[in-house]
Amino acid sequence: MMKRNLREMGREQLDLLIIGGGINGSAIARDAALRGLRVALVEQHDFGAGTTARSTRLIHGGLRYLETFDFGLVREGLREREILLSTAPHLVHSLPFVTPVYAGDRVGMRKLKLGMVAYDALSYDKSLPKHRSLRPDELRQLEPRINQNDLRGGMLYYDGQVELPERLCLENLLQASMHEARIANYATVRELIWSGGRVRGAVVEDTCRNERITIHAEAVVNAAGPWIDGLNSRLLQHSVARMRLTKGIHILTPGFLKHAIVLLAQRDGRLFFAIPWKEHTLIGTTDTDFQGDPATARAQADEVEYLISETRRVFPQLPTDQVYLAMAGVRPLVRARSGDAGSTSRRHQIVDHAHEGYTGLFSVLGGKITNQRLVAQETVDRISRYLKRSTRSATQHTPYPGAPSKSLAQFTDELVNTHTGMCNLRAETLRHLATTYGRRAERILSMVSAAPELARPLVDGDSPIEAEVHYAINEEMVRSSEDFLLRRTGLTLRPGLAQELAAPVNRALQRSLGWSADEAERDAERYTECLELLRVP
Ligand code: FAD
Repeated sequence: MMKRNLREMGREQLDLLIIGGGINGSAIARDAALRGLRVALVEQHDFGAGTTARSTRLIHGGLRYLETFDFGLVREGLREREILLSTAPHLVHSLPFVTPVYAGDRVGMRKLKLGMVAYDALSYDKSLPKHRSLRPDELRQLEPRINQNDLRGGMLYYDGQVELPERLCLENLLQASMHEARIANYATVRELIWSGGRVRGAVVEDTCRNERITIHAEAVVNAAGPWIDGLNSRLLQHSVARMRLTKGIHILTPGFLKHAIVLLAQRDGRLFFAIPWKEHTLIGTTDTDFQGDPATARAQADEVEYLISETRRVFPQLPTDQVYLAMAGVRPLVRARSGDAGSTSRRHQIVDHAHEGYTGLFSVLGGKITNQRLVAQETVDRISRYLKRSTRSATQHTPYPGAPSKSLAQFTDELVNTHTGMCNLRAETLRHLATTYGRRAERILSMVSAAPELARPLVDGDSPIEAEVHYAINEEMVRSSEDFLLRRTGLTLRPGLAQELAAPVNRALQRSLGWSADEAERDAERYTECLELLRVP
């Protein structure tokens, strides 16, 4: 259970304060707390609300990085993919990918085959099947809607998908808090405190209570993703800009695929994906330089048009008038001396600011959702050395809190078989609970058995139930409709942006959090504003 208590945080002497509750910050909190360090993490908005919520949601080595000969990065991703498949099977699953090849494509069958052999070799210890070459007729059988003209064949291979990276981020924090970490959302770092030439903590603004708290810690990590450079420039007298920010967009359309498809854009030869995501299709991404506040990034009409027209080359029947939403994210990449946005490496970098005169401050740049565990392990190794503590990472073999002890399919079937009919719960609802929360669904069910009225669907005939809102408030630090609908459940990401759920969720939050009518109205307004960023331009 995560309890938000900044005042209590201010009374403690901590080893480590983490700025930013995205995938990197949350993974660092998990790793450090599992090692027994006294940790706090503060997030200015909600957990996973930054770049983490805007990714392609793949857990992969990155076929694309073979083209830049970044074999180390690919191997790292493939090893981490395997670890996530076993420690978070309720969140990360395997996904079949098909790569069609057309006459005149920049990557022909021979080059693709070489890439596939390398991808298999770099994942020699994997549990997923190896790649297989496909003739045009085999490919047609797998994906009947694919454009047949000039189709030369293709490949079938397997990678990983995390449908809700926001929940992976949250489960990092749940586990950290189970090991005594102090966690708070809606808490912004405003300044660092120094003494004897070393960082000693930070002043944090609790934006829920409008008060400032000083948090005392021996080391501070800036894991603020695309906000890192901007934050360092405000916190430090002299700071060095180290990042290159690039924007990537995705669109969500009706589901039309059985496999994820690797696509090559004709216009610029870029590789992008069309991916089955729940019952929909997620298409993306783009890669262009970005300037400004990452929180305001949104998709532009020409970017949406690019994805639609390039996808229609391979799937001519893609309906262009049924794009449910478009979302943009900003990559916090490590700045290279030259090169275009797409070729900038996805490698991470841990900066120890001691050589600039800021002892005890570290920044974690770059990385991917896929390799968050490794980034965290390396970061906490560095910090342990600084703190002169002998510790060892335990994350490689530690299951996430929601991980069932059996396969997710078995767990889901058992939950459906044993609970259908209990308090009128439908099989659909139980499936939704199991696939969203994994084993933590049991906690929601025990709330239902204690208060059967919580089994009521939020909207008649739909799967989500009221108990989820109560659980999210009590155990996952939900403070708003946006937190619940976008990041704890991903329910917003469907046709019509789940407008039908907005009012019942707002009412359930009002009842549980004791909001006044004004507070409930402000929450509804904020939710409408956040949907604006997802509207198709
Ligand atoms: P963030 O998630 O942005 O977290 C940083 C947090 O710091 C934010 O929540 C922010 O609110 C907080 N913060 C900022 N300032 C303060 C402050 N002063 N006080 C407190 N908190 C603060 N990776 C993959 O592995 N697979 C993919 O398929 C994939 N696809 C991608 C597609 C796109 C379009 C993009 C943009 C990225 C993709 N990535 C992918 C990369 C991955 O999403 C990012 O590397 C990762 O999410 C970055 O996480 P982070 O924790 O560094 O940043």
